[in-house]
Amino acid sequence: MFTPRARRVKVLATLGPASSTPEMIARLIHAGADAFRVNMSHGSAETRASLIANIRALEPEIGRPLTILADLQGPKLRVGSFAAGKVTLATGTAFVLDLDETPGDERRVCLPHKELFAALAADARLLIDDGKVVLRCTHVAPDRITATVVTGGTVSNNKGVNVPDVVVPLPALTPKDRADLGFALDHGADWIALSFVQRPEDVAEARALIGGRASLLAKIEKPAALDRLPEILELADAVMVARGDLGVELPPEQVPPAQKRIVAMARAMGKPVVVATQMLESMIQAPTPTRAEVSGVATAIYDGADAVMLSAESAAGAWPVEAVAMMDAIARTTEGDAQYYARVHFTETATAHTTADAISAAAAAITRTIAAKATVCFTISGSTARRAARERGGAGPILCLTPARATARRMGLVWGVHAVVTKDVAGFEEMVAKAKRMALRAKIAGGGDLLVLIAGVPFSTPGTTNVVHVVRLTGTELAGRS
Ligand code: PGA
Ligand code: MN
Repeated sequence: MFTPRARRVKVLATLGPASSTPEMIARLIHAGADAFRVNMSHGSAETRASLIANIRALEPEIGRPLTILADLQGPKLRVGSFAAGKVTLATGTAFVLDLDETPGDERRVCLPHKELFAALAADARLLIDDGKVVLRCTHVAPDRITATVVTGGTVSNNKGVNVPDVVVPLPALTPKDRADLGFALDHGADWIALSFVQRPEDVAEARALIGGRASLLAKIEKPAALDRLPEILELADAVMVARGDLGVELPPEQVPPAQKRIVAMARAMGKPVVVATQMLESMIQAPTPTRAEVSGVATAIYDGADAVMLSAESAAGAWPVEAVAMMDAIARTTEGDAQYYARVHFTETATAHTTADAISAAAAAITRTIAAKATVCFTISGSTARRAARERGGAGPILCLTPARATARRMGLVWGVHAVVTKDVAGFEEMVAKAKRMALRAKIAGGGDLLVLIAGVPFSTPGTTNVVHVVRLTGTELAGRS
């Protein structure tokens, strides 16, 4: 049986051309990746299907539930492709965007969003590739935008475009997103990420389409979503601080306070929160990160994030394994800092007024007081494990025992949860015995160690969490058992 990570924060690694083979995915897992993002904006149906199949095929061998997050492109604006794959635009030159799907060159490219041609006007900015290249419209016709290159640079196929100066009327899920969603669910994705959420209705719409077949993560990357964060959090299962697009749509200096606010609110509401984008950006090219990047990752961890994400660092960079290993090292060191829990608890997470929340809060307090090695919970839906995680208890992992493989897989984005698929228990004594055996087998605890159990009696009835129980291991619990 696999053993828990030496840290509580999870590492979410985006897969791509640099990390598509079973060998590379296995190396990423060994380096510390807990969950994988399959980006529906890139690649073909075949490459995505093979990525998902490669991840799933590793599960029995690794012996660890692996988490797959399918990230829908959303109503993201992108340029078309170039005959040469990419072009370099010189500052001060003219560049044309049109609706002609012929691959582009240094003079023009397709912008396959008809709505934009009506919404844009002269002087509006087009920010390409997270704002690295800036164009300003000089003339807008119904099928042709002439622009000046304000900040030149390289633009490659399908790079993103943000238009912060106009409001573009776009639906929450494009026809492509609906098709990709069906594909992701058919291929067994555990989480669906919804991009460019603007309104709670966007989340509700996706939720209805998913119908419980996967959990739903709302990416916060539009100022409009920040304005309605509580309502969006209420409807989503998790959120992402999508700093890439957020930092293009907003001045970059407004991203850190937004990150603090999103993480704090998500934690208060007990929803997992992922901090994403440019976390170790320089590692796309270099084997070591900048000091500022390391500091930024540590800050997200001190803020109390559930997971930190790698984008191109693991998907298309030269050092994917090193980038994952660096995330792991930063997380272990940050969590090992005596100030970590004090800083994490700087964010108020007042207990909700339910028995289940009160039990989880009490379990966390007991765990800390007696330095128990783990909090153990039996859960079918995973809600007990998420509640325990919300407390950021601090002594040992949250051992989540569940008969539902889908639940175990969804735990890959949740702080501190070490999920194991196991048969359900029928009674209290059986539960205690199993908790002890599982903790021993996972090498979470040994003879003389204490465990804190959270349970619901009667068993197998969801929503009954009402018991906290402390047990001491003798270390002989495995004797005579297979
Ligand atoms: P993306 O989302 O990588 O799909 O753009 C994350 C972000 O915008 O930060
Ligand atoms: Mn984005």
